[in-house]
Amino acid sequence: MKKLQAIRGMNDLLPDDSGQWQYLEDVLKTILQQYGYREIRFPIVESTELFKRSIGEVTDIVEKEMYTFEDRNGDSLTLRPEGTASCVRACEQHGLLYNQTQRLWYTGPMFRHERPQKGRYRQFHQLGVEVFGMAGPDIDAEVLLLSARILRDLGVADQVTLQLNSLGSSEARARYKDALVTFLNGHKESLDDDSLRRLDSNPLRILDSKNPETQALLDGAPVLLDYLDEDSKTHFEQLQTMLRDAGVSFEVNPRLVRGLDYYGKTAFEWVTDALGAQGTVCAGGRYDGLVEQLGGKPTPAIGFGIGLERLLLLLQATGQMPEGLDRHIQVYLVAVGEVQSRALTLAEQLRDALPGLPLLTHCGGGSFKSQMKKADRSGAELALILGEEEMANGQLTLKYLREEQPQQTLNVDDVIQLLQERWPEYCL
Ligand code: ATP
Ligand code: MG
Repeated sequence: MKKLQAIRGMNDLLPDDSGQWQYLEDVLKTILQQYGYREIRFPIVESTELFKRSIGEVTDIVEKEMYTFEDRNGDSLTLRPEGTASCVRACEQHGLLYNQTQRLWYTGPMFRHERPQKGRYRQFHQLGVEVFGMAGPDIDAEVLLLSARILRDLGVADQVTLQLNSLGSSEARARYKDALVTFLNGHKESLDDDSLRRLDSNPLRILDSKNPETQALLDGAPVLLDYLDEDSKTHFEQLQTMLRDAGVSFEVNPRLVRGLDYYGKTAFEWVTDALGAQGTVCAGGRYDGLVEQLGGKPTPAIGFGIGLERLLLLLQATGQMPEGLDRHIQVYLVAVGEVQSRALTLAEQLRDALPGLPLLTHCGGGSFKSQMKKADRSGAELALILGEEEMANGQLTLKYLREEQPQQTLNVDDVIQLLQERWPEYCL
């Protein structure tokens, strides 16, 4: 029979590595709490329509990356390729945007049918932050400070730079688009197929072409920042002042555009050189038009997404992943003879007395010797031995696995007291 395998580009997370993810998630949650952001969860599957209408028909995501399928009712559904659209949908559906502001976050898997490589997968994970109801630029600065703190607290601040741009109002973008298209039409012979296709459909995307020839050509092209409307210009200047005041360094990159149609005004990316081609760790921006576009009242909004695999890779590549994240077993309860039932209740008693103690109860029988071997391999500091004799006397034998100390046979209460004195931190 053919061996069953995971889908290409969709990774298993094995127990040896899950400690790293938990560490990352703990740091993120602590920071989000510091800023008063609240968690929202929404389904992994939505109607295809939602993503088409929000992300834009002529984007990489909608054109070629979505996992779209028909369900049994014949409805077209899509595995979410990103979270913003679903977040807006959920907020609208439940009236969260009515006369109020929201600072929200979510995390979970996203799905895009891309060519899998280091830092690029078909199922990957994002932390998303979305803020509704504030026009900025103060909230833009807060969101950027939050992202900066995440990178700082994880120890990778010196590995990343913040790139910043303003995409202006939709009218300004339209004016700029015309100028860019006019310019590029005069240099069609120098454009690759991808850019030629985008020239008609989504010319702004040509600005972030990875092709060096295209980039060289763009040196002579009109610059988006020169086309900004007054409102966007002021917004952008004020944002920059706030960031400077807060000591956040950034580079203005006038060619920074985003791969989704709904962005305007502030756009940003945190990029690193440490991960090769997949250098964008965090990306986001302002999307004041999206809520209305999806049927709500006009609502200013800003957000970002962090690619958690890339963040993890960055911590690993730069030696910032703490050691010893695997919370290992401290006590192994050895159960020899007809004592299984008592072993299980004893273990419960120990967990009541020391709720934080990682304790493994031996299950499955076996000789004393083989159980002690397992106790040693578990990494435990102590073995508690329950044999028939101990059980009859209401006692336990305590054996030190990593220290030169004689073993002791004690009453259960005394064992509990000894453990509590040894590990007060597990008693809370
Ligand atoms: P890229 O230019 O690398 O394709 P993107 O512009 O498509 O990125 P966004 O849609 O802005 O990415 O998603 C936000 C973040 O999610 C990215 O900056 C990246 O860290 C992460 N990300 C996006 N696609 C993938 C993927 N296929 N695998 C892993 N992480 C991803
Ligand atoms: Mg992409």
